[in-house]
This record gives sequence, structure tokens and C-alpha cells, in this order.
Amino acid sequence: MSKKKSETTLMDNNSFTVELEKHLRRELGTSPKRATAHDWWQALSLTLRDINLDQLQQSGLDENQEERHVCYLSMEFLMGRLLGDALMNLGLYETAATLLQSYGVRLSDVLDQERDMSLGNGGLGRLAACFMDSLANRNIPATGYGINYRYGLFRQVFVDGYQKEKPDVWREFGSPWETCRPSETVEIGLFGHMEMDHDGNNRWVPSKKLFGVPWDITIPSFGGQYVNRLRLWESLVGAYPIDLDKYNQGEYLEACRNLVDGDTISGVLYPEDSTPQGKDLRLIQQYFFTACSLKDIIRQHKQRGLPMGSLAKHYALQLNDTHPAIAIPELMRLLMDEEGMVWNQAWAITQEMCHYTNHTLLPEALEKWSASLLGRILPRHLQIIEMINYVFLNGEAKEQWGDNLEIIQKVSIFEELDNGDRMIRMANLSVIGSRRVNGVAALHSGLVKANLFPEFDALYPGKLVNVTNGVTPRRWLAHCNPGLARLLDRNIGTDWRTDLDQLEKLTPLAESPDFLDAFANVRFKNKERLARLIEKECKVTVNPNALFDVQIKRLHEYKRQQLNLLHIISLYHEMLDNPDADHTPRVFVFGAKAAPGYVLAKQIILAINKIAQVINNDRRLDDRLKVVFLPDYRVSLAEQIIPAADLSEQISTAGFEASGTGNMKLGLNGALTIGTLDGANVEIAEAVGDDNIFIFGKTVDEIAALQQQGYNPYHYYESNPVLKRAIDSLMNGSFCQHKPDLLKPVAEDLMHRDQFMALADFESYREAQQKVSETFRKPRLWWRKAVLNTARLGGFSSDRSIADYAEKVWGE
Ligand SMILES: *Cc1c(COP(=O)(O)O)cnc(C)c1O
Repeated sequence: MSKKKSETTLMDNNSFTVELEKHLRRELGTSPKRATAHDWWQALSLTLRDINLDQLQQSGLDENQEERHVCYLSMEFLMGRLLGDALMNLGLYETAATLLQSYGVRLSDVLDQERDMSLGNGGLGRLAACFMDSLANRNIPATGYGINYRYGLFRQVFVDGYQKEKPDVWREFGSPWETCRPSETVEIGLFGHMEMDHDGNNRWVPSKKLFGVPWDITIPSFGGQYVNRLRLWESLVGAYPIDLDKYNQGEYLEACRNLVDGDTISGVLYPEDSTPQGKDLRLIQQYFFTACSLKDIIRQHKQRGLPMGSLAKHYALQLNDTHPAIAIPELMRLLMDEEGMVWNQAWAITQEMCHYTNHTLLPEALEKWSASLLGRILPRHLQIIEMINYVFLNGEAKEQWGDNLEIIQKVSIFEELDNGDRMIRMANLSVIGSRRVNGVAALHSGLVKANLFPEFDALYPGKLVNVTNGVTPRRWLAHCNPGLARLLDRNIGTDWRTDLDQLEKLTPLAESPDFLDAFANVRFKNKERLARLIEKECKVTVNPNALFDVQIKRLHEYKRQQLNLLHIISLYHEMLDNPDADHTPRVFVFGAKAAPGYVLAKQIILAINKIAQVINNDRRLDDRLKVVFLPDYRVSLAEQIIPAADLSEQISTAGFEASGTGNMKLGLNGALTIGTLDGANVEIAEAVGDDNIFIFGKTVDEIAALQQQGYNPYHYYESNPVLKRAIDSLMNGSFCQHKPDLLKPVAEDLMHRDQFMALADFESYREAQQKVSETFRKPRLWWRKAVLNTARLGGFSSDRSIADYAEKVWGE
């Protein structure tokens, strides 16, 4: 795709000013003279939203389009802040800055007023946000469907080093970006029973009704000409949420029951990441947004006057993980029970329309629902799933495997439990009901084929494919790193924003000392800015000349923040032992939230905070070692950390990180990666070349072999004195003298369990870190590698991912 970048904006300065002031007066009841920064934020956002809405009518909703409309179904959209990105996309950044300046207001202060839209946990939700951006940029008609949570991911604060969670009140008085479309409200059913009607047909009689009210957010392309939308559903019970009779009798609580119930469904985002949450409410959330979205799609299809038989020709559903997998039986139900199709026709359409993205191999993270629970909430869907399974097992499966019971039990949608209940394997349902299944990095997709679904791969050759993840260069380069963006513009032109392969043109500049200096200078400015933020948030002074070593991602044992921590302790000991040696100064930066119920992850956070406190206050180190944990990791914080990172920590146990996208964001901005051969690190290493990345640790096969022979972490502890000393210092209270036992649980887990084999990779990690320190001391060498990282990672644009989806997944 090569799109012309329009130099003209969609609105001239004059009309922009007029519109903006109109919003200030009418919506906010204020004036340019009196407006607060928050007022300006709202008025600016409303103005840009209006421009997008005007464009939307001309692009994404074109009723006559022939192309398949992509419906991206995701329980999570981690959008972050929208204003800065929108100003950049619409070419109004400078205009807005100048206008505000004339009123004595700073644009950066206005942008800081926006609360992140944190309707997601981490990588999976952020991927959905990047894909929405790239779908618009590829001019692919698309709608993102999700839930308009009242409260997004919790806000994280630290109290005495402990993580505490606070509710995320992100749209208390509404968000200027969201437009409610009450006329497109849909109704769905829940619970109830099955009934035979007089024609002998099985009918679902739900006992509870629920309304889904859509809230739309516009998603503009760069330049703003093409606009798609994100449609988020809010739940409402009944048309009359308050029972006035009861209310008048004084039964206030009872009267508001509907209000309370309806509210809970789209009330909060589950803060779980990489583990499923087996709660009724979660299943209801999944069904709620999926069913609302399918109703919405069918309504639009009919409005266009098209026959139901052609539904799959006009719409493709992409299921982001198995969270929306209930779409498969729901679509079957709609086509049969409401549209009167026979099974085979409905099944052909369903299988043609659905596509499923797998995000994890962790067996404990694969969703399963108890059949009795699902049958109570969705009795008709249980019947349909049983029928899908019956047809599958007695048809394709029997033909392929005969009576091989072991395989039949493995591919069955149902897993029989000893207690008589059955579990529904949502992944098996998704594979059987989809036209394509994709993993999210080459290594991961290979493992999906070889380890997770080998039987399905044999049964359906070509169904399982790979689409490597990507990140949008608009947000993760142009917007978050304006200094680097200007440097790129001056040297390779401006087209890289929509054609990231243009970055290749930087390759010869890696040999130019002047360019390396300019590149290093941009980084230095970014590090000064981050240092100010660290000072403000953590009350720690850091030296911008030090190596900024960054690990930012959810806190999870498989991501191994604990391995990073052990290395930090070993560096600390080394500096104390040899105070006069020439140590490379380092600042370790962490950002990570732990799921509230994940005890060990929270203990690791505590350990990092406690160790940071001791190290940061140890005068003997002469400020050569600092550790900071920035609270409340989120998109807008990532945007400030990434441009300032020298080293990107991607140190998961090989075989456990499906792809990672943080690795791409950091590498694109010129951070060097220290990482294992896991997820997309493998492809990143291929792209940048072995000399420009620090790879360490056991491979997938070596990890598997170690697991096979029985992993014993204690062996590593005993035989490596550096490691032993680090763990002992966690055990003996060196970092928390008032409560010497405080960090024992972390130490004991490492010595005796260490599920993700941090100890097995420790020595290799430490050696790689020594190479990092040596390289950082040779600036020419370091900056050459950094430039080559930026130059060679253009392929990790989500524009490329979306082109791959269009070709390998949604295409023929
Ligand atoms: C990119 C991103 C992630 C994913 O990071 P990984 O390192 O790939 O796990 C998580 N959270 C936020 C806020 C992000 O921006």
C-alpha cells in the first residue's frame, strides 16, 4: 500500500478556532479567557471528534463497499490517551499549540489532563488498539467491538512498597471521545429455559433481558481522510431501570435493583492477565458484548438489503483470543432460530466468518467453562455446542482418526471431569468453528502447530497460520518520540509514518558520526525528561548519562522480573566489593502491575521496591546504581519511558511469551534488546542481526529438556556463589532490616520451585549484561547498534501485521 500523505489538513486554522471556541462556550459554558486546562482538553477533543465524525460518513460506513468489513471482537482495547495522537493524525498539532499559546496555555499541560482509556490489561488489549489504528491506515473498513467498562484497569499506588489498587474512574462525567448511539441499542437474553413450540422446534425462552447501548469512538488514519470506529457496549437492564411502584413505597434499594445489576455487567474490567477468570460475570460479559455485536452486524447487513446467505461475504469476524468464542454458537443460533436456516447452511456461514487469534500456550491460561454453568446462563448455546461437537466427532474426526479414543478425547470440545461435570474448551471450539487460526509470532505459531493443536493441524492443513504482531508507528514513534521523528524527517523524509520500511534508509547513516551524535542527543534529551518524571514520581535523582535499563510490562513470573532483580543485587554486591573499579553507571527502570490476586507477583513488586530503597540510599555507590519502580504503568507512561530507554529487557522463559510488543516499541526507538529466544525476539534478532542484540539463555528445546529431566533450582543456587549471595541477601533481611523475613517468600520460591527457571538462565544473563556494560562504554559502537535497530525494525509496524491478516486470514 502506498497512500499519499496529504499536506493539507481537513480544517483550516480559522474554522478550527471557531469550532474550538464554540465548544468551549456551548458544551463547557466557559470562554477562552476563563477556560481551565481541563476545559481546553475537552473542547479540543470535541472539535477533533467532530472532524472525524464528518469523515466517518464518507469512509468506514460506506454502504456500497464490496470489501469484507472486518469486525475485531475484543474484550479489551487499551487505547491510552487520544488527544495528542488525534492532533498529530489530523495535522493540527502545531495549530493547536500556537492557538493555546496565544491564551497563555501550554499544549502539553492540556494533553496531561486526559486520563488514559485503560480498557485492557496489557499486550492483548494494546494489540487491539494498534490494529484499529492500522486498519484505518490500510483503508480497510472495520469496526472494533468491545465493552464500555465504567472502570478500566485499576490504578496502582505503592504504600510501603506494597501494590495497592484504586478504582480507575476514567469517565466520571463522560468522555468527549465517546458518542452514544441510543437508537442502535440492541436487546439480548440470558438465563431461562428451552421450550418446544407447536412446530416441534426447540425455543430458548430467556428469563432475563439486557440492553446493550453502543458508544462509538472514531479511529482516524494518518491525515484523517479514512475513519473507522470502535463500538463499545454499555449494559442496561430493562427500559425502566427504576421500579417506580417500589420506589414510591419506600423500597429504594429494591427499586434500583435493575440499575445495579445492569451496571455490573459493563462495570469493571477483569484485571487478570494470562490467567482466565472462571466467574459467571465474566462469561456474561463475554456473551453480552459478542451478542450485541452480532445483532449490530446483522442489522446493518439487512439495512443494506442484502440476503442472510451472503453474510460471510460481507463480514469477517476476528476473535481476539477465545474471550469472544461464544460468537460461534451465537451466530449458529441467530442463523437457525431467528433466520430459519438449516444446520449445514448456518455452519458453512459461521465457519466462513470466524477467525481466531491464539495468544497463549500456557495450559492454565486456556479458557474453559463448566458446561453446567454455561448451560444455566445460556441453555440454547450449550445445546448448540454439544451439536457442533457431535457433528465434528462423528464426522471429520471419525474419518481422520477412527476410534482412536486418546485423540478423540483430546480434540473434543468437552473435557469430562471426574465429578461428572464437563468443561467446555473454548480453544477447541474456536479452532473447529473458524476458517483460520493464527499465532502471533513465528516461534509461537510453530508451537501452536507442534504442541497445542497438532491434531487440528493434521486435520485442517493450512488453517493454522502465523501473523507476527506489530505496533503502530504513529503512536509509538511519531507521537511519543518527536525528537527522533524530526531527526528522521530531516534525513529520510516523512513517509515512514505510513510506510515503516522506509526506515531502511537509515542504514548508511549508522556509519556517519554526525548522525550518531544527533541520534544520541535525541536520546539524551528524552532521558533528561524521564529523569524529571522519576524525580517527581519516585523522589529519586538519576543521572541521564547512565545506562537506562528498562523492564516495562505486566508483572508475571514467566516474564521474569525476578531474574532482573537477581542481577541488580549481584551488581550491587560487585560494586560494594570493588568500589574503585570502573563500573558502568546504570538506572534500572521498572513499570508493572500485578493482578490483585497474584500473591507471588505482588511479593516481587515489594522486593523490587525494598531493594530500590536500600540501593538508592547507599552513599558508597556514588550514584552509579539506581533502581526506580514507576507506579501505575499504562500507555501514557510507556510513551514517556520508551524514548528514553537504552536497554530493553525481554527476558521471558523461552516458549512462554507468545510475541511481546513492548520489545518492538523499544527496539524501534533505538533501545538495544537483552533477551531470550522467545516470541518475536527471535524475529527481532533476525532483523537487526546477532551483533546488534544481546541474546542469552536456554532455548525452547533446552527448557523442555530441563523440565523433562526434573528441574532443580537448588542445584544452581548451591553451585553459583554470586547467585547464592544474591538469594541469601533476600533471605536474611539485608534489604529490610526492620522485618528480616519480609522477602523470604520470594527467595524460597526461587530456591525450591522457580517455575520459570530464572536460576537456570542466571549465569548466561549475567554474562550478557557484562557485554552490555562493556558496549555502552564505547559510544560509537553503541549508537551504531542503536541506529541499526531503528533502521531494521520497520517490519514490526502493525500496518504490516494488518496487511498479513488481509492476505493470509481474511483473504482467499
Ligand atoms: C505494549 C504494552 C504492553 C505489552 O508489553 P509486553 O512487553 O509485550 O508484555 C503492556 N502494557 C502496556 C501499557 C503497553 O503499552
